[in-house]
Amino acid sequence: MSNWPRLDAIAVLRQLNTQAETGLSASEAERRLETQGPNELIEKRANGPWQLLWQQLTATMVLILIVAAALSAALGEYRDAIAILAIVVFNAILGFRQEYQAERAIAALKKLATPTVRCRRDGTVIEISARQLVPGDIVRLEAGNLVPADCRILETSNLRIQEASLTGESEPIDKTAQTLDRLHDPADLPLGERRNMAFMGTLVTYGRGLAVVTETGMVTELGQIAAAIQTMDRAPTRLQQRLDQLGQRLAIAIVVLITFIFGVGVLRGEPLTLMFLTAVSLGVAAVPEGLPAVVTIALALGAKRMLKRRTLIRQLPAVETLGSVTVICSDKTGTLTKNCMTVTALTGAGYHIDLTPRLRHGRPVLSAPPQLLQDQPAAALLLTGAALCNDAFLESHSNLSHSNRSAPGLSDPQPPQAIGDPTEGALVVAAARLGLGKADLEQALPRVAEIPFDSEHKRMVTVHKLAATAGLPASLKTALAGESATGQWSHLVFMKGALDSVLAVSSKLWVEGRMVPLTETWRQQIAIADDQLAQTGMRILSVAFRPLDSLPTGELAQTLAQDYVFVGGVGMMDPARPEVKSAVLTCKTAGIRPVMITGDHPLTAQHIAREIGMDAHGRLLTGQDLDQLPPGALTELVDTVSVYARVSPQHKLAIVQALQDQGHIVAMTGDGVNDAPALKKADIGVAMGVTGTDVAKEAADMVLLDDNFATIVTATKEGRVIYDNIRKFIKYVLTGNCGELWAIALALFWGMPLLLKPLQILWINLIADGLLALALSVEPAEQDIMRCPPHRSNESIFSRGVGRDIIWIGLLLGLVLLIVAHHYWAANQANWQTMVFSILAFSRIGLVQTMRSERNSLFRIGVMSNKLLLGTVALTFGLQLAIIYVPALQALFQTTALSVPDLLISLLLSTFVFWAMELEKWLIRNRQGQVPAEQTSP
Ligand code: ATP
Repeated sequence: MSNWPRLDAIAVLRQLNTQAETGLSASEAERRLETQGPNELIEKRANGPWQLLWQQLTATMVLILIVAAALSAALGEYRDAIAILAIVVFNAILGFRQEYQAERAIAALKKLATPTVRCRRDGTVIEISARQLVPGDIVRLEAGNLVPADCRILETSNLRIQEASLTGESEPIDKTAQTLDRLHDPADLPLGERRNMAFMGTLVTYGRGLAVVTETGMVTELGQIAAAIQTMDRAPTRLQQRLDQLGQRLAIAIVVLITFIFGVGVLRGEPLTLMFLTAVSLGVAAVPEGLPAVVTIALALGAKRMLKRRTLIRQLPAVETLGSVTVICSDKTGTLTKNCMTVTALTGAGYHIDLTPRLRHGRPVLSAPPQLLQDQPAAALLLTGAALCNDAFLESHSNLSHSNRSAPGLSDPQPPQAIGDPTEGALVVAAARLGLGKADLEQALPRVAEIPFDSEHKRMVTVHKLAATAGLPASLKTALAGESATGQWSHLVFMKGALDSVLAVSSKLWVEGRMVPLTETWRQQIAIADDQLAQTGMRILSVAFRPLDSLPTGELAQTLAQDYVFVGGVGMMDPARPEVKSAVLTCKTAGIRPVMITGDHPLTAQHIAREIGMDAHGRLLTGQDLDQLPPGALTELVDTVSVYARVSPQHKLAIVQALQDQGHIVAMTGDGVNDAPALKKADIGVAMGVTGTDVAKEAADMVLLDDNFATIVTATKEGRVIYDNIRKFIKYVLTGNCGELWAIALALFWGMPLLLKPLQILWINLIADGLLALALSVEPAEQDIMRCPPHRSNESIFSRGVGRDIIWIGLLLGLVLLIVAHHYWAANQANWQTMVFSILAFSRIGLVQTMRSERNSLFRIGVMSNKLLLGTVALTFGLQLAIIYVPALQALFQTTALSVPDLLISLLLSTFVFWAMELEKWLIRNRQGQVPAEQTSP
């Protein structure tokens, strides 16, 4: 047990041999990483290659086969025994390869899901993966972060951490940097009371802090209590559960049938060992024991493919659910829009400045005269507030200021770059370009306290010390000069936020350098000006300030809750992402309803919604409307609303609930700490990879690496493809097995001997279920996949024709085999069994081709469009010919060479089921009307 809580910060740093200002050196960090290992929790359940292979070799069906091989060997049938074992090994290798790929895909996804951390090394702040942290690293903790390791806190500013994952306590704990009471033995101190420590896996919900890492990886508190936290959810998905049940029921039916075949065979005088081997082979071939595994593999490999399309899957079942999504609720800023903000307007009492950039020499240049702020000092106060009440900062090389630039960068060829939130960055850039460099402002007005922004209150407050008016930028000095009380002000409080929330706490207005009462008429005028800007799609932030005679004491949120002087608004343009329009269209044709949920102004939201083609006729509800709705009313309305504006994260939860009550499968995006409950509630929680907080990512099922709405739509399509392919796989495997069982069972009734030898059955199982069916899993998207409605999440796997095809195509295949068998057997032809064997093998090759598309003909989707399948078909065909014609294999599989006419007949007859399936698809297409051809990518 460490005694960090009761050591003071200096002692902690000394003991860890590090410094708060500079952090560790890169080389020291590397050395520590080598000795301490990466900062990760080791998952006990991880499956290594050997474990996977062992699992394959010890699966029940394989064990039965091994017993069968042993029995054959004991009876002197060495060739059979060896062949059975060879097939067992092949099967195991195939299965192992798939599982291993899936396992590796999951491991890679998990690694990518590790959060990044801002850490101080060699005196600069860098962003590294949390895995690379070592004890002694100095890390910054900010609202939204997941605490990356156990840390002793060195500095705090309203830091609150929610430690539910460790202590079960869901209320966030106020953290402190102070040394805890020395009388307390830390061993007695419950985790929740170690207030100067932050523990790995807990969530920073508010404020910020600086901390030094004390323990990493498995030595952390989390590491000690939970050995397997980093798991990806492997609980069976809905589909897997259903397949599991289905598999069990089928297994019972098949075992009954096989027992029957065994009994009839024995009664008819067939040798006991032959009947035993046949029964075992049939069992192995027909029982679909691997169905749930197929789903895992398809989902895991699908998740791997999705990563290439900038979607990180955090929970495997999400891939399956994606296919049935009916509503996508999306944030606006950054997801539907580019999150590239440019300040285009400044507005206040008595002025409106248009800053829309004009193109000069092909570059956007701010269109404002250099002396603008001198002429319009109220705008200087507005921009000062916007830049100071702000956590973004300019990159050092572009930190423009009024003192070192005479003409402040209005046509600067290299525009200044801001680091931080894009909305805030745009404000800092605009201020700098008009001569108010943030660094200079901060020197004259250093920040001493703050109330961070949160999307609930939609505003942010900072308190600045007014050291001396002499140090203020000239334009700001002019701005404040008119107010007589300036000399007594010791501090300035700045607030920026959404108009309504800033107006709500303002009682005065800044008009031509003076404070005047904020009358109702003024309020109305301000609201009208705000609406006018919002109508053009602008995002507007309002700014207010409040002078103070002394530094406030007590709870800031309470002492600074009123008496602001409203200064004005800054309008910003954030263009819609160009690709979103077609993504919205795709959603609509695919039966998915896109819905915008934003904290922004209703008119701004509506403008963007119209621009990207979201349902312009749909209703718009604001957060206020939602608050006023009677219970249950939202559920009634939810299907007609396409834009929700000025909502807070709590509303998102209500919206998801209402949509789910209407039977929708909801994907919901989110980025902030408070979005986590809605992300968890949604069927698919989608977090933003770029702007999202760790908290949102932790709660989400998938992360958009590019924050782009269009990527969600692509992921939905991928989900549909994967689901489709799983269904095709099942249909293919069960149809073939059904045909085989029908033929063998009915032949016994018809007085014929067993149609296939045990090894032949096993061989068909290997090529059909092993090789051909797996190649189906990489089948490209159906051409019209995004023109069909989503499948119901609770639909039966046998719905939409799967069950029907398994029965009738299976029966047809059985009949073809039976009739051919009877014909050749009755004519006493020695090759009758080989004919049946070949027709079955070739039929399954034909079936796999036609089953590639549920609706379209093979010739329309193109024989060449699944190269892997084509290769597998060629390989299977070649191997089958080899079994028929190569003497050694003939002996093993007990085949006889087919004459050319017989080979041709078998080939011809094997296309029977293929044509039947194509005919069925043709009939269905004709009934539903032809789907226009369209080239889609896989
Ligand atoms: P979306 O929900 O679509 O991402 P949003 O960014 O507008 O939109 P929030 O982040 O919840 O949603 O912001 C809500 C409102 O709060 C914004 O419309 C804006 O008026 C205000 N706001 C946003 N960011 C800040 C900030 N950094 N400081 C002060 N106010 C802000």
